[in-house]
Formats: sequence, structure tokens, C-alpha cells
Amino acid sequence: MLKIGEIGWIEKDKPEINPRDALVRPLALAPCTSDIHTVWEGAIGDRHNLILGHEALGVVDEVGSEVKDFKPGDRVIVPAITPDWDNEAAQRGFPSQTTGPLGGWKFSNFKDGVFGEYFHVNLADANLAHLPEGMSLEAAVMIPDMLSTGFMGAENANIPMGGTVAVLGIGPVGLAGIAGAKLQGAGRIFAVGTRPKATEVAKKYGATDIISYKEGATDEQILEATDGEGVDAVIIAGGGSDIILDAVRAAKAGSIVSNINYFGNGETLPICREGWGFGMADKDFATGLCPGGRVRMERLADIVTYGRMDPALMATHVFHGFDKIEEALLLMKEKPKDLIKPVVIIDENL
Ligand code: NAD
Ligand code: ZN
Repeated sequence: MLKIGEIGWIEKDKPEINPRDALVRPLALAPCTSDIHTVWEGAIGDRHNLILGHEALGVVDEVGSEVKDFKPGDRVIVPAITPDWDNEAAQRGFPSQTTGPLGGWKFSNFKDGVFGEYFHVNLADANLAHLPEGMSLEAAVMIPDMLSTGFMGAENANIPMGGTVAVLGIGPVGLAGIAGAKLQGAGRIFAVGTRPKATEVAKKYGATDIISYKEGATDEQILEATDGEGVDAVIIAGGGSDIILDAVRAAKAGSIVSNINYFGNGETLPICREGWGFGMADKDFATGLCPGGRVRMERLADIVTYGRMDPALMATHVFHGFDKIEEALLLMKEKPKDLIKPVVIIDENL
């Protein structure tokens, strides 16, 4: 990112590492819709000559003197969020918010990201995970952000066993939300979206009903399909700020509206007074930033290893070579109809 609205290639020095850190080379990368918010909406403010990207698999190039469990040559999963685990917010159970709101999100926020020939990982023993042998790179590269964020959407939604869930927005994050809702024991799952490729994968991940927000109001369609009752949980994974109104109206008493969407612009976000029972409807909100760290990555890898879901279904566009990063990023911006997620394999033989 050269500045808001402008990307390009830049030369930078190799990052320096501290005793507990690692220097990593990319093995596979993926652009995130958040990179698009950052560059083209200026959502987190201006950034100059910042290396983008926070979704990576890598090969360890160098480790600091105090790193115990990783050595040069190891293939690793690199979480999008790399918290300072000794920070007080981490000790209170919110590692993604260390050193301030969203502070665990370092790559492509306030530190150079992973779209470089080398990148720096803080606290390597706590923030890297070994890439299981034999796992496809297309599947594994979904773990650092897409699975971690989408599954968090389902975890935060407190879904009762057999409960009904609506997932609003079925890009890769919402699709992982659907898979997560199924794994959390949801009964009926509404997927709200229109793109044919995404609806196909939504069904494979567990959606029982597809609702098109382009063919009528989402909340009305969900209320009609549930005899006016609404759903036990809503996961918001796309759309502009008005999507919150759909979510609150479709939610029933005792439900949680679990937001994992990144609202890229505007000063405030709306809530519907009536749909929220004038503030008294027992409809709660949950928010969260993608969980990071080693244990999270290892657990998500087990979900893939033991066949609970196949994240590779989301890798609709696979590029090869470092120089394809720009094309993949622009594809994520344009979002053609057949796209779920572009992936760049840097070098399978690294
Ligand atoms: P995406 O753009 O691929 O998917 C969102 C989809 O929602 C799009 O297909 C869009 O057409 C659709 N949509 C728009 N309006 C809608 C509406 N009213 N109802 C239903 N669907 C609607 O994006 P993605 O890559 O899946 O990411 C989703 C969001 O999650 C982005 O804002 C991204 O920045 C954010 N994100 C958050 C975290 C986190 O830590 N919380 C992590 C990663 C991504
Ligand atoms: Zn992201």
C-alpha cells in the first residue's frame, strides 16, 4: 500500500528479529477483504509504504536465540493475528485486543504484512504452528484468518444444539461461519447471499436454506420461513451498516447477533429501535477480531486434518508465483461472480 487508494511494489530491508521472534518466507498467501477496506476505503486511516497481507503459510528462515520449537526450514501456519501474549488484555482472555483495540492485528495494520519476500513474526513459539505434513496449501492457507474468523462468528453466537442460525454474507468469512455453525451443532442454517459459487459451497458446508437479499428484505424472508419466530443466532459476515437492521429484526429473544464484519466507513452504526424492542428485547451483540496464536492454529488444522470440513472448496482462483500477488489482490477488490477466495502459491517446493 503506497497510500490510500494506491498499491505498488516497493523495496524494503529484510526485517530484524528479536530473540523470541522469527523471520519467515512465504509459501502460500491470500488477500483478505480487509486489505481492500484498508487500501481503497482508508478504513484504518492512511498508511504509507506498508506491506499488505496477513494470511500466510511460510517457511522459517531464521529464529531468535530464545525460540525453542521452530528452526529454519520448518513449514508453518502463520496466524493473521499475532498477539503479545504477556499483555494484560491477553491475560484477561482477549489476546486479539492486546496493547489496544485490534492491537493483536499487526500484519498490514501497523507493521509490514506478509506480502513480502520475508516477514517478521513476533513471539514465534506462541504465534507459529507447524504445518501438518501432507495438508494441501490451498486448504491450509484458509486457516490463519478465514477459518479462525468464521468459526469465531459461530462460537460467539452461542448456538444452542439444534438451534436455527442465519449467516448474512457468504463470502469466504461467512462460508466459514456456516461450517462453524454446523460444527457448533446448529439445526437449520440460513445462508443469505446470491453468488452461485458461494451458494453451492454454502450448501456443502451445511446451509439448509438459501435466501437472496436481492429478492426481498432479508429479515422478512427469514421471519416468514420461521413462522414469524426468527432465529436463535445471527452471524453478520458482509454488507454495509444497514445489515445490522436485518440481523436484529431476524433475531429472536435470547439470541446473539454475532458480528465478524468489518464496517469500513461511516461515523456510527444503526440499530432499529422497534426491532430491538425499544432497547429491551433480550437480543445481544457479540463482536470479535479473528483469534490468533499457536493453539488456535493447531486446533483449526485438526479440523482440516480430521475431515470436519474442507476449506479448499473456497480457493476458487489459484495463482502461482510471487509476482501474482497484485493480480490476486485486485481480484479480491473486483469480486467477480465466480470468486470466493484467490490464493497465491509462492513455491510448493520451498
Ligand atoms: P466478501 O465481500 O467476499 O463477502 C461478503 C459478501 O456479502 C459479498 O458477497 C457481498 O456481496 C455480500 N453482501 C453485501 N450486502 C449484503 C447483504 N445486505 N446481505 C447479505 N450479503 C450481502 O467478504 P469476506 O472476505 O467474506 O469478508 C467479510 C467481512 O469480514 C469483510 O468486511 C472483512 O473485512 C471482514 N473480516 C473480518 C475479520 C475479523 O477479524 N472480524 C477477519 C477477516 C475479514
Ligand atoms: Zn483478514
